[in-house]
Amino acid sequence: MTAKPVTEQFRTEQLGTEQLATEQLNTEPPSAEQSATDQPLISVPPEAAEGTTCRYVDSCQLPTRFATFTLHGFADTQNHKEHVVLTLGDVGDGRPVLSRVHSECLTGDALFSLRCDCGAQLEAALERIAQEGRGAVFYLRQEGRGIGLLNKVRAYQLQDQGLDTVEANLQLGFAADQREYSLLKPMAKALNIQSLQLMTNNPRKVAALRAIGLTVVERIPHSTGKTDHNEFYLETKKNKLGHYLDEL
Ligand SMILES: [Zn+2]
Repeated sequence: MTAKPVTEQFRTEQLGTEQLATEQLNTEPPSAEQSATDQPLISVPPEAAEGTTCRYVDSCQLPTRFATFTLHGFADTQNHKEHVVLTLGDVGDGRPVLSRVHSECLTGDALFSLRCDCGAQLEAALERIAQEGRGAVFYLRQEGRGIGLLNKVRAYQLQDQGLDTVEANLQLGFAADQREYSLLKPMAKALNIQSLQLMTNNPRKVAALRAIGLTVVERIPHSTGKTDHNEFYLETKKNKLGHYLDEL
């Protein structure tokens, strides 16, 4: 790790969302000289995000145990949410891009929770992209199918009482799935991603992406990370949310 990406990252972290929402956004494409390694950053046309509330901010290298990805930051100036896309290889060459659209799950992605399959799915997506040498993970900050972290804690409490994941969300006054995908379009456009080979078991996600004008050329069945703890959760996703989970 060189000093440059750390500085860039720190600078970005220093900017509050309030600042990001106004004039501090850097929508200039990263130049070749800015890249600290010989892996080229994707050039982002500044006009790509115009007319939307989701703006490209900056890119940096992100070494992981799977591969060294390029991490692209985006800020939604309307709701002050921050999102990222991890890419590997040249995703802007016009060919379909092996992709995962992953909604944030702090408990599953970072805290090793076995209540869901999110962590296993994220890991499998990064691993598969690393194997292919090319792909993208859109990491959207919409925790708990869009209800937020603390409401997810409340939903889990109801599930501890015997409700399933859909019933719990409904009891809290939310829809079964509150996720919103329209921000993906400016993100894909900014990265010049033309079409997706989508890793998912969720036909509604494919339909939602097509509805906002993204081209999904193929659905690729994705790992479920089934465990004793999440079997009921996965059954519910299959029976109530229409997920394709052939192994269940
Ligand atoms: Zn999860």
